[in-house]
Amino acid sequence: KVFDEFKVDVDVIENLRKCGYEEPTPIQKQAIPIMLEGRQILACAPTGSGKTAAFLVPIIQALGMPQRQGFRALILCPTRELAKQTHRECVRLSEGRGFRIHVISKIKRALTQYGSNSSQKYDILVTTPNRLCFLLKQDPPALSLKNIQWLIVDEADKLFESGNRGFREQLSEILKSCGENRKIAMFSATYTPIVAKWCVHNMKSLVRVTV
Ligand code: AMP
Repeated sequence: KVFDEFKVDVDVIENLRKCGYEEPTPIQKQAIPIMLEGRQILACAPTGSGKTAAFLVPIIQALGMPQRQGFRALILCPTRELAKQTHRECVRLSEGRGFRIHVISKIKRALTQYGSNSSQKYDILVTTPNRLCFLLKQDPPALSLKNIQWLIVDEADKLFESGNRGFREQLSEILKSCGENRKIAMFSATYTPIVAKWCVHNMKSLVRVTV
């Protein structure tokens, strides 16, 4: 299978080529068509397997063009460093579309930057859950997630690990702020029973994929 065989617009295929990606990796082959159909997924794929593009390509395709609807896709990462890397890849893969893709870096600036109404000119948010929850806890919340269509949890095993007990609560706070129709894609480097259990309880017609 090559990228052209996916139901993805030619500009995105061209951006993949510009990144030097000629052929999809195994996780991309499996996850991209499932997410393009709008189905929720639990994907176990190690770091280095190409999982970032596996979720970015379907998100970019789903969002189409920029809209003044506030954030429509949310990517949660365990660390700021990973959030920045993911942001960079998202910029490269969506080049030419004019999406506004944000990483919450300066929390003070973020407090005034977004606004709690959902008519803002933003499309994709990449962040750690701590930063996002800080903004959601403001009164009124410092940003709106009402128009989120896709929520991606990257390195879910790290986020859920016992040292980070608060993540489950954070995730339910985040989900409460998202609209009804949001879909979830959970990416985990390893198979973890806690993550799988959470998915079974919280994600309808879940598709599981392992590479
Ligand atoms: P990731 O697992 O997303 O961290 O990706 C690991 C590395 O593989 C990154 O440096 C990507 O740029 C690269 N990569 C992702 N997809 C492909 C592909 N289809 N072909 C070649 N390299 C890729």
